[in-house]
Amino acid sequence: MRVSDVIVVGGGIMGCGIALRLRQAGARVTILERAIPGAEASSAAAGMLAPQMEADGPGPFLDLCLRSRGLYPAFAEELRELTGVDVAYRACGILKVAFDEDATHHLESTVLWQRGMGLRAELLDGAQARELEPRLSPKALAAAHFPDDHQVDNRLLVRALTMAAARVGAEFRSGFVRGVVHEDGRAVGVDLDGEVLRADAVVVAAGSWSALVQGAGVEARAVRPARGQMIQLQTRLPLLERVLTSAKGYVVPRADGRVIAGSTMELVGFDKQVTAAGLARILDMVLELCPDLASAPITETWAGFRPWTEDKRPYLGVGPVPGLFLATGHFRNGILLAPITAKLVAQAVLGEKTTVDLAPFRYDRAPLAARA
Ligand SMILES: Cc1cc2nc3c(=O)[nH]c(=O)nc-3n(C[C@H](O)[C@H](O)[C@H](O)COP(=O)(O)OP(=O)(O)OC[C@H]3O[C@@H](n4cnc5c(N)ncnc54)[C@H](O)[C@@H]3O)c2cc1C
Repeated sequence: MRVSDVIVVGGGIMGCGIALRLRQAGARVTILERAIPGAEASSAAAGMLAPQMEADGPGPFLDLCLRSRGLYPAFAEELRELTGVDVAYRACGILKVAFDEDATHHLESTVLWQRGMGLRAELLDGAQARELEPRLSPKALAAAHFPDDHQVDNRLLVRALTMAAARVGAEFRSGFVRGVVHEDGRAVGVDLDGEVLRADAVVVAAGSWSALVQGAGVEARAVRPARGQMIQLQTRLPLLERVLTSAKGYVVPRADGRVIAGSTMELVGFDKQVTAAGLARILDMVLELCPDLASAPITETWAGFRPWTEDKRPYLGVGPVPGLFLATGHFRNGILLAPITAKLVAQAVLGEKTTVDLAPFRYDRAPLAARA
């Protein structure tokens, strides 16, 4: 039997970020990862930091996303100082493009309510949008410009974060966590491949697999995998400055000429295959947004699982019994939400008052049809 102050289940961006903050606050932390830290959703993502482009309206979730976006410059710099890795945080801005009148009206109302909140957003006609991005399709009717939405290279980010967590003294251990061990109504550790590891607190950050961790307090249908397929193209010189998105998907230009294009949204269980239909849909979207990418070679395809929740909001903070904490269900915004999640969940574990009220993100918030 082994004693550790905090056990973190899952070594993705959430687990590593929380471990980093807990270690920095003086806790002893063990990260339990059944495979390669960071290799699941956190590496599969596109790395958009896009609260405004993604937002469906004002509220606590948008506030959380905006706060996390605000933490990014310092987060990237901290990781560079701790590890020497530049995570390619780029203040590039995002253009959300409309190809018909309905989509244009939707963008118009988005820009209006966001400006009403004091956020920077602008509606451009097609010609104005092409002035910013000359390779944007001539068929684009309009675009919303979100100059404060950005991107990061999420693969570099998770590499840096795992290094940073290790550097400050978090221990990584390989193994499959079968379940959380409960005693006298509280979480006292985990069952790791049949061995009981004890801890004062257990944080479940197992991404799309969180509901499969027995005793984690995540109901079976509450967190599910939503498959997203992705394509990487390569251009010699970058064709685009900004991220381009439409109702059908996005292209994210990296500084080195790579273009990450995605994605699909499929509830197909843990089937991680890349399919002909999925790739065809993504390529249609790419060529609609930027026809000049037609001759770019495809250098990689992959799929990953977004941790989906019914209301598309994460579960953060205390779980159903003392000693158990949740950091899961970040769905499409887990890269964006990593810095704020790390901070808030570490505060909750340490028994501090969290700087953001976590009530809207509690495991038992209502309404949730999954409970019916
Ligand atoms: C195609 C795609 C595109 C995306 N694009 C973006 C984007 O542009 N911007 C954005 O903000 N977000 C994006 N996301 C979402 C983001 O990637 C996720 O929300 C985020 O990575 C979730 O992080 P996580 O640490 O919770 O999960 P993961 O990275 O999946 O990590 C969970 C870890 O837990 C481990 N684990 C699971 N069960 C156990 C167990 N029983 N024992 C031990 N270990 C276990 C797994 O092996 C895994 O390593 C995208 C996701 C996908 C799939």
